[in-house]
Amino acid sequence: MSAQKVPVLIIGGGACGLTTSILLSDMGIDHLLIERHPTTSHLPKAHYLNQRTMEIFRQHGLADSVYAVGTPMAHMGKVRWRTTLGGDGPLDARTFQELDAFGGGELAATYAKDSPCPSTNYPQIRLEPLLRQHAEARGPGRVRFHHELVDLRQDENGVTATIRDVAQGQVYEVRADYVVAADGGKTVGPMLGIQMEGPTNLGRIVTSHVSADLSQWWDDACLITWFINPHNSGVFGSGAMVPMGPTWGRHSEEWVIHFSHAPVDPDHYDETAVLPRLRSLLQLPDLELTVHKVSNWVLDAVLAARYQEGRIFLAGDAAHRHPPTTGLGLNTAVGDAHNLAWKLAAVLHGRAHATLLDTYASERRPVGMRNVDWAMFTAMNHAVCDAGMGFSPLHPPAARKANFELFFAETPMGETRRARAAAVFDTQRAEFQAHDLELGYAYAEGALLPDGSPPPRARSHGQALPACGAPWPSSAACLVTAAGSSTLNA
Ligand SMILES: Cc1cc2nc3c(=O)[nH]c(=O)nc-3n(C[C@H](O)[C@H](O)[C@H](O)COP(=O)(O)OP(=O)(O)OC[C@H]3O[C@@H](n4cnc5c(N)ncnc54)[C@H](O)[C@@H]3O)c2cc1C
Repeated sequence: MSAQKVPVLIIGGGACGLTTSILLSDMGIDHLLIERHPTTSHLPKAHYLNQRTMEIFRQHGLADSVYAVGTPMAHMGKVRWRTTLGGDGPLDARTFQELDAFGGGELAATYAKDSPCPSTNYPQIRLEPLLRQHAEARGPGRVRFHHELVDLRQDENGVTATIRDVAQGQVYEVRADYVVAADGGKTVGPMLGIQMEGPTNLGRIVTSHVSADLSQWWDDACLITWFINPHNSGVFGSGAMVPMGPTWGRHSEEWVIHFSHAPVDPDHYDETAVLPRLRSLLQLPDLELTVHKVSNWVLDAVLAARYQEGRIFLAGDAAHRHPPTTGLGLNTAVGDAHNLAWKLAAVLHGRAHATLLDTYASERRPVGMRNVDWAMFTAMNHAVCDAGMGFSPLHPPAARKANFELFFAETPMGETRRARAAAVFDTQRAEFQAHDLELGYAYAEGALLPDGSPPPRARSHGQALPACGAPWPSSAACLVTAAGSSTLNA
């Protein structure tokens, strides 16, 4: 079997792989992308696109097409905590906290100062087809869905991949100079024996993608509503929900609702079993809803022990997987793609020595590590919010209702409880105002010429940018040229 030759082989047609394909096409690098499924993802999953991602999309002529369909800031600048969405009991439909989020409200001036690109919101189920369209237009014939990697071997001159055309059942080989493993960690990392380090199975979450008319209960300014209610255990047990568009605000046609359940829960949540549970969580017993998809998944917070194995590079979820809190998964994946693409292009165009590629890991793995830690930290901080409401694991379920009554009571003690909760919920700004995580990162080591200045200090709550001012252009660094000297790629 004679192998087809290609400079770069991308494994995986999720957001990371598709972005890498678009960027390589723009830089004139021939490549092939293979994706095992016939279509892009059926699950909405990621939705928040931070300013750094939008800057990268702007640099590659993608931002306008995302802004044209993404959520306007007027419909995404707040997050809320409520007891329930509906219901007419005294403890139902009560909003007890809200925060500005994602650059909305009082954050607007800071976010506008720090980047020309506002953040936006566009669920993965819609973003991936848009990225696929761009990838196919810029690299005609270079994007192959329904083609699956089955084996990978590398030697010092290149990598040989065995690929199955799933529809035709044919197996063929591709010989690549370099491989980008953007496979979500499903295939390449395990094949290479690269460990994912960190805790796994931290919680079991059920995510339902539904259509329903919730316009009479939803507030237009809010992107995410978290629930803590008297009927369920804490914030994860009570659930959270997000509009998925395509119309934004209260008239969103589609929604995602997440809730956790105990490992011993005997219920199996499929498309049918989830219906009564969702109606009960929302306290809308007669709500008409269509369930499109239910996914059961577990919380992990893991980082690849190595980002590089010779000519193979792990990127996106293949390199880091963590709770969705702070919305860092897809955004970090786009950052990985951006960092790796310009370096591959520089090396393959002969403008840089191959050792430049080693700086992908030294630059991006520390970012991945911080983001895994941060996502985990902000997920666990929701338990702190529960405690801020006066709940602890010591509370018997029967005491929850009484606790809520005390919380809402127009008494001095009720006021104290609400003031304490407000102070505690303020710590969750680490999730919804994580501006420093999103834009303020800098590389301590990598393709950089040190100028002697100390590195900017990260802010402990993740909000403001480091004092050095403008965000570091994470890819405008120095190139190590083929001759081994250094030039600045401003
Ligand atoms: C409920 C939820 C909410 C989230 N919210 C956010 C958010 O708001 N913001 C955010 O930034 N992130 C969020 N995330 C995380 C985000 O969804 C992921 O980080 C993102 O999908 C990673 O993209 P990826 O391309 O690296 O991997 P994936 O999306 O997993 O894509 C990998 C692709 O590789 C393919 N593949 C695997 N093996 C093979 C093979 N052998 N051959 C060919 N193809 C293969 C797979 O089929 C898949 O399509 C959320 C996640 C969840 C679960």
